[in-house]
Amino acid sequence: MQETDVLIVGAGPTGLALAVQLIRYGVDFVIVDTKETTTPFSRAIGVQARTLEIYDQIGLADDLISLGHAAEKVKFLKDGVVRGEANLSELGTGLSPFPFVLLVEQGLHEEVLYQYIADHGHDVLWRHEMLSFSDDGDGVTAEIRNAGGSEFSIRAKYLVGCDGAKSPVRHELGLTFEGDTVERLFYVADVELDWPFGHDALQINLGEDNLTAFFPLKGENRWRIVGTFPEGHKKDETEILFEEIDAQIEHDMSVKLDIKTVNWFSVYNVHSRAVNAFSKGRCFVAGDSAHIHTPAGAQGMNTGIQDGYNLAWKLAIVLKGAANEKLLATYNEERSRNAKNLLSTTDRFFEFAASDEWLISFVRNNIFPYVFGTALSFDIVKSKLFSIVSQIGISYEDQSLSAEAGGFSVKAGDRMPWFSMDGKSIYESLNQPSFHLLTFGADIDASDKLPEAVRSKFQAACDTHAFDLDKAASTAFGCDEPFVVLLRPDNYIGYLSRDLSAIKLEEYLTRY
Ligand SMILES: Cc1cc2nc3c(=O)[nH]c(=O)nc-3n(C[C@H](O)[C@H](O)[C@H](O)COP(=O)(O)OP(=O)(O)OC[C@H]3O[C@@H](n4cnc5c(N)ncnc54)[C@H](O)[C@@H]3O)c2cc1C
Repeated sequence: MQETDVLIVGAGPTGLALAVQLIRYGVDFVIVDTKETTTPFSRAIGVQARTLEIYDQIGLADDLISLGHAAEKVKFLKDGVVRGEANLSELGTGLSPFPFVLLVEQGLHEEVLYQYIADHGHDVLWRHEMLSFSDDGDGVTAEIRNAGGSEFSIRAKYLVGCDGAKSPVRHELGLTFEGDTVERLFYVADVELDWPFGHDALQINLGEDNLTAFFPLKGENRWRIVGTFPEGHKKDETEILFEEIDAQIEHDMSVKLDIKTVNWFSVYNVHSRAVNAFSKGRCFVAGDSAHIHTPAGAQGMNTGIQDGYNLAWKLAIVLKGAANEKLLATYNEERSRNAKNLLSTTDRFFEFAASDEWLISFVRNNIFPYVFGTALSFDIVKSKLFSIVSQIGISYEDQSLSAEAGGFSVKAGDRMPWFSMDGKSIYESLNQPSFHLLTFGADIDASDKLPEAVRSKFQAACDTHAFDLDKAASTAFGCDEPFVVLLRPDNYIGYLSRDLSAIKLEEYLTRY
């Protein structure tokens, strides 16, 4: 029987990104997928700043950026006329080294992750299906069928289901997937299109009771179109031809588009659902197997990637015996709350985008396009919007792994704020897959103050850094006295305090 530490079921973006993180931590894994290789389809195209920050730690951000382009502008169209526009390219200036949304096709994105896996001596077991599994408390045994039809077992210490919305892993674990199905059928089409509105902006057409979005893809005249059929369009999704999508677009836009080529299209039902728990025993779910929602805000794939980012370091530390298994329960705690918040945000976005209620539709079509650009000229609006959409604002505040003494503008549980010191991004010091103990303005290594027993155990898994408390640092943390920060390996703040005595820090470190 083949043995491994972690069995990943599913090599979509979630499973591939989890595998990449496990490589980073030196964890042994096997990843299986029924498909022949990475997806050939463009599917999710919006890559958020937080995802790029994660990829930047391992040198993949630039590779991905070179395959796509930033969404520079948004234009609002109504009845074939541009009614308003806003600049998106600098939405997150000062908040992230990647102050934009990157548009890149999911197929290309998956290839970048797969290449990293291959470059590090691993492979995906393509055309391998996970048939069933059982968790006996000491490990998980999964039955796998390979491309030739032979069946064999894999024994793993942990199993992670990254197996998509229909998730056999979720079903086998008996987890519920409560929520709703959106009444409308969605369509998505990748086309080549000639039109007078230019290729330099995300274009949103405001129909009477819905939106149609046009995302410029890399390459001349290439576009991704996303829209919906009206409620009550009873046809089965598999029966719809592109001509019906074309007719719907013409109806919603009041103009006929000159679509030259249709490279791919799909019609699908959208759900808004989340699991009741992200783990059971030695098994976990991540990505679409744990949460699905409307495409509003391009959040789905990015959230799955961050599920894996949250889980990988916890698995690594527990597998190395440096923390007890209670740490793994914080994956469920942190990512469940995040999924719940996400569903409510995407539902609200969608309600605004597609509601036919008189007032919402009036504001959307007659006020919003004219004021959105102006609203974005206010820093507070820009930074609030960017924090939500880019996912840099996700916080594990008030959860088990977050401890702080108060008196800061950021909280324990927030992502490490981004700023530059002496012209260098603070993140450049924080790429190692380990804890980071930072002191600002105190001429000490905070770890020296820990008792020897804690220090010797901890230092193997921790980088220490002493920084000046310059204006950028004190502004970022809202504190002008010396302080200490302990970053978790995913660069979220675990512990934050002006107390440099290390008593509380020791308490924090010995908790798990
Ligand atoms: C048409 C379409 C358009 C979309 N557009 C957007 C968008 O614009 N923005 C956005 O954020 N999201 C979008 N999404 C959603 C986005 O694609 C998903 O959020 C993302 O793919 C989720 O990744 P995942 O790895 O969790 O799941 P998936 O990509 O579904 O991958 C799951 C993998 O598990 C494998 N698998 C399943 N069962 C087994 C088994 N028993 N054994 C082995 N392997 C198994 C499957 O073969 C699959 O490769 C779109 C989805 C679709 C279908």
